[in-house]
Amino acid sequence: MSPPKHHPVPINILQEVFGYSAFRGQQAEIVDHVTQGGDALVLMPTGGGKSLCYQVPAIVRQRAGHGVTVVVSPLIALMHDQVGALEEAGVHAAFLNSSQSQEEAQHIEREMLAGRLSLLYAAPERLNTPRFLAQLTSLHERGLLSLFAIDEAHCVSQWGHDFRSEYLSLNLLHERFPDVPRIALTATADDITRADIIERLQLQDSRVFIASFDRPNIRYLIVEKDKPKEQLLRFIQEDHDGDAGVVYCQSRKKVEETAEWLRAEGVSALAYHAGMDSDIRRRHQDRFLREDGIVMVATVAFGMGIDKPDVRFVAHLDLPKNIEGYYQETGRAGRDGEAAQAWMAYGLADVVNQRRMIDESPSTEEFKQVQRGKLDALLALAEATDCRRQRLLAYFGEESEPCGNCDNCLHAPATWDATESARMALSCIYRFRQNGGQRFGAGHLIDVLRGKETEKVRQYGHQHLSTWAIGASLGEQQWRAVLRQLIALGHVVTEGEFHTISLTESARAVLKGEVQLLLRQPTTPARKGKTSRTGTSGKRATLVDPELAPDAQFRFNSLKAWRAEVAREHGLPAYVIFQNVTLAEMARQHPRSLEELSGISGVGAKKLEAYGEDLLRVLGAH
Ligand code: ADP
Ligand code: ZN
Repeated sequence: MSPPKHHPVPINILQEVFGYSAFRGQQAEIVDHVTQGGDALVLMPTGGGKSLCYQVPAIVRQRAGHGVTVVVSPLIALMHDQVGALEEAGVHAAFLNSSQSQEEAQHIEREMLAGRLSLLYAAPERLNTPRFLAQLTSLHERGLLSLFAIDEAHCVSQWGHDFRSEYLSLNLLHERFPDVPRIALTATADDITRADIIERLQLQDSRVFIASFDRPNIRYLIVEKDKPKEQLLRFIQEDHDGDAGVVYCQSRKKVEETAEWLRAEGVSALAYHAGMDSDIRRRHQDRFLREDGIVMVATVAFGMGIDKPDVRFVAHLDLPKNIEGYYQETGRAGRDGEAAQAWMAYGLADVVNQRRMIDESPSTEEFKQVQRGKLDALLALAEATDCRRQRLLAYFGEESEPCGNCDNCLHAPATWDATESARMALSCIYRFRQNGGQRFGAGHLIDVLRGKETEKVRQYGHQHLSTWAIGASLGEQQWRAVLRQLIALGHVVTEGEFHTISLTESARAVLKGEVQLLLRQPTTPARKGKTSRTGTSGKRATLVDPELAPDAQFRFNSLKAWRAEVAREHGLPAYVIFQNVTLAEMARQHPRSLEELSGISGVGAKKLEAYGEDLLRVLGAH
């Protein structure tokens, strides 16, 4: 190993390369630990600043003569932008993936083997190839294999929501190169997933850093499905006109339909799912990253590794599988720390679907049991009448106070005692069984309870049941809420193609009146107009524009136009050149010299050199 020439200090790298004045939260501690060769498992929410936790050590160690950091990241589609951002900051980085020509790949391999690269990004499947392993071995023998960074580490666990079998072979790295330090990072992992990551990656001896999972700038809103597409449209029009956002749907078909519908309603919406032509998919992703104000309607295939900082909302039209999934997906909003919203519409059909998907999956009973438990936790969140954030954080093992920035905190929901109604529903299901052994779905059950004489009612003679019309005083929506809760709590189950309902063992206690059921009062969809509760404050409380004085606003617009041109020339998203917050700071402070410019957060040495003069010109300093 060549002797280290000099030992740069992490804080200097942060300031010089990234243009930031200080580390945030646990970053400093993590960076020190990893720079000195320690192993680490880092759990930090999206937007918490995970990238710097391995990028700064990578740069410090490379400058100290330790060679290349290999970053394992599952999404090759995004490596280009990640590497572009580093190169913009003057860090020599590259990626190897299947999209490259042989020539390109060979050039990068040479840079890597010479130890000149600070960071090399690679997909997990590449690590298994004999060619790549031989190259790593060669680096290692010469003391030039500095560090392994394993991004999205939850992919190694089958309990996580994004299991990838290629990740399983990552423990190979540790077996082959036991003395090379490793840092594994994830934004989402509950207890069981954490334990699994540690075991599978053999990180038993590593230090575990767990940051608070709170994302205080994200407001959580969960509404009951009524006409979901219209609810979504109203949410976008009232709170997020012109904003970038992501809308998650479960099926590809629904993705396409929803995107088309939103477009017809005047929203700049694009579709994204795994079944689409890969060129179109890439084009849509590029437009989302590069243009302002695109709404991406997508399956969960979209989003991992998307580090666009100014996504202002994430909406769910279907229930996610569990809280980790929900938190990961909603976490893509507001990475820049500005106000953002996570909105979800959920209904009875969601509960039924998710339960059925678990039941019908080919997994072991143990696995299904875990999945059911996770779904239950999510349902409890959706039905909650208390603080959403408190529940979310509690799920990740954190205690907190009511947040003041979720729908329930802002507007305490009305509740009603549904104990009697639940008993009516259960005894009606019981009567069906007695009366011919037939099972029925929720729709018919509600018709009978409400005394609605349909053809089916007459066909089965259900107007003669003792439970006929006993629940006429409740509306259909309320009945749906009761059933949803009964399914969520496991007192009834739905089965088969027609989702017929039957009682479980635990229904007995409810029937006997031993269990009290307190439900949210259905929210009336008449919440019209710019509601006082979200209104503009929920929209972009601290975002740049409204605060800027007119001349500063003018400078901000000029800077954005300049940035758009540079981004286009470099084939990179605009935020890779400078983030909005940085441009806004320039517009506000109005620096007149390179010296003043360098004091602005986000302006590192390389960017100052490359763009300083141009910026001063745009700012009218010359
Ligand atoms: P994560 O990967 O955890 O989601 P990122 O690494 O993308 O988060 O960081 C989120 C945002 O915070 C980025 O815009 C990044 O530039 C910014 N950031 C991270 N650390 C700092 C810091 N110490 N000072 C200023 N900005 C930071
Ligand atoms: Zn709250």
